[in-house]
Amino acid sequence: MSKVLVLGGGFAGVEAAIYLKKQELDVTLVSDRDYFYIYPTSIWIPTGEATKEDVSVPLDKLAFAHGFELIVDPVTSFEAKEKKVILQSGRVLDEYEYIVVALGQDKIQMKGMEHTLSICGKPEEATELYKRLDALVLKDSGKIAMGFGGNPKDSSAVRGGPAFEVLFNVHTFLKRKGIRDNFELTFFAPMEKPGQKMGDKALVMMDKMFGMTNIKKKVGSKITSFEADGINFEDGTKIESDLTMFISAGTGHSILIESGLPLSDAGFVVTNEYNEIEGFEGIYAIGDSASLMGPEWRAKQGHVAEVMAKNVAYNIAMKVQNIDSKYSYMEHLNILCVMDTGDGAAFVYRSNKGGKMIPMPIVGHWMKKGWGWYCRNSKLGKIPRIPGM
Ligand SMILES: Cc1cc2nc3c(=O)[nH]c(=O)nc-3n(C[C@H](O)[C@H](O)[C@H](O)COP(=O)(O)OP(=O)(O)OC[C@H]3O[C@@H](n4cnc5c(N)ncnc54)[C@H](O)[C@@H]3O)c2cc1C
Repeated sequence: MSKVLVLGGGFAGVEAAIYLKKQELDVTLVSDRDYFYIYPTSIWIPTGEATKEDVSVPLDKLAFAHGFELIVDPVTSFEAKEKKVILQSGRVLDEYEYIVVALGQDKIQMKGMEHTLSICGKPEEATELYKRLDALVLKDSGKIAMGFGGNPKDSSAVRGGPAFEVLFNVHTFLKRKGIRDNFELTFFAPMEKPGQKMGDKALVMMDKMFGMTNIKKKVGSKITSFEADGINFEDGTKIESDLTMFISAGTGHSILIESGLPLSDAGFVVTNEYNEIEGFEGIYAIGDSASLMGPEWRAKQGHVAEVMAKNVAYNIAMKVQNIDSKYSYMEHLNILCVMDTGDGAAFVYRSNKGGKMIPMPIVGHWMKKGWGWYCRNSKLGKIPRIPGM
């Protein structure tokens, strides 16, 4: 039986392992953490509406449910030409015919970033955000700034949605406590039109939402540094902040720099639309690790990572049987998210036909909660998968 090694246990890696097993291949997944982390629902951790455990699914349970092998041991080196992977324990994995790279991405480092926390970083940072917000609530007042950065080399690696979500959730949380007026909330981003990917209508609506929630906005000037008490901008201004959440844009995973794989300027693995890598037969890159092709508004998202994973499972199975049939991810490119505000949400959809943002008061919040429940239980095989989800 052909042996497949999946590197990474996130949206892309877990989905690949599940679907490769459905193709009756011999599958091993390697992860640095022992759990799959559902990033989209981690946005409720800072306000205490969810805990890290609520948004984590143990990888051993997923491995047991689907029958793949699991190794929890960080990858420290990957020599792609030799198909050789070295783990932190010193263990060498070099007997795999196929390797699926699904290690996610790293974040661009900026001056003073140690003074910030990110909802898109290590899962522990979300819990730290909860503790820091709680301390400000106990003080009964404070200045909170949340925003995201850009990547001039790859706009698909810019992640802004969760910054909006956490900020609106913090607003709702403070309002419910009756102390919102004691807090100054500010959104910041270096670009002129943050959120532009969602389309022009969405931008107008975001501005309305900032107005309605009394959230200040600072955009259009480069961030020069972060300090313990705020954020400095190129135009000489400073936002004062007791708690700064900053989502730095993504860059390629550090392990892949020395792998020998072809990388884009931003460090992502260059693949074709079938996630194959030219000159590296049997190696595939999927999810955030891969350089995403497509229109300017494209974005690295979980559902695209899952499409790539399912395609690669199919493409490998076909290759094993010498059948000339492959699936491409290109026709599945869109931006799809339910942007939560703590008391409702907005449905965001962007395709080549343009963007839509539809307000969904109250019900949107519960829809997103429902998706989190579905994601966990369908991955564990406890409930059937809804086609396309
Ligand atoms: C807060 C937040 C909200 C989001 N909301 C949405 C949304 O609403 N809709 C949507 O479609 N997308 C959303 N996304 C984007 C989505 O979560 C990502 O696109 C998705 O997680 C990408 O999957 P991945 O498997 O490529 O990367 P990841 O999920 O980051 O997984 C990478 C995995 O590799 C592992 N790994 C890393 N380094 C090593 C190593 N050295 N050795 C072994 N293992 C390693 C990590 O532990 C991790 O499990 C959101 C992202 C964030 C952060």
